[in-house]
Amino acid sequence: MITCNCVVCRSADHKNKRLRVSILIETSDKTIVIDSGPDFRYQMLRANVQDLDAILFTHEHKDHVAGLDDIRPFNYLLKKNIDIYATERVQEGLKREFSYIFAEVKYPGLPQIEMHTISSEPFYIGNTEIVPLDIMHYKLPILGFRINEFTYITDAKTISEETIEKIKDTKILVINALQKQSHISHFTLDEAVAFAQRIGADKTYLTHMSHNLGLHEDVEKELPKNIKLAYDGLTLFCE
Ligand SMILES: [Zn+2]
Ligand SMILES: [Zn+2]
Repeated sequence: MITCNCVVCRSADHKNKRLRVSILIETSDKTIVIDSGPDFRYQMLRANVQDLDAILFTHEHKDHVAGLDDIRPFNYLLKKNIDIYATERVQEGLKREFSYIFAEVKYPGLPQIEMHTISSEPFYIGNTEIVPLDIMHYKLPILGFRINEFTYITDAKTISEETIEKIKDTKILVINALQKQSHISHFTLDEAVAFAQRIGADKTYLTHMSHNLGLHEDVEKELPKNIKLAYDGLTLFCE
């Protein structure tokens, strides 16, 4: 957190360096990113990402979309458009934030995108089925995504029984846990742990953590064995 000198913000442990939430997914035929927040450019450079086919958006808040402009090197160097998957409402948000990308008369060098409208219905990216999950971020309906045995949910405050039905046999769950204190639009640590225990995935990783949550090492000691804190650079292998 800019200006903060708390133990997390001053920590030298790379697991306490928490950039904005995002994940890169490599399927058998596609490379997909979920959300392109303000740290997207640095995250792509840091992970030396060489290819990108698609961005899936959970919702239009700035910490999830602000990096969209930085897809341009993929356009220039790989000579391809990036497929964007977003609901109609999220597309409206993108048009407000990035009006130049959608302008009638485009100047050279703009981000090149191919828009795909999604809803709550499953769809395919290449060979892989993506199942959208309806989640409530306080009063804003947003999406999580299930991809085979893997489920990714961020910015949840309320999750319906209907959505729980869709993910209850997932093997790996990623779920948001902002801090220990209650928050209007995000799960607390206790809420995330209770949700994870209800789903009972083989492994759960907590994400979208604020510096208020505390040090990685300290918080992990308090967690049940199959629940871990995610950290920047974490890599998982799934079926
Ligand atoms: Zn801090
Ligand atoms: Zn967020």
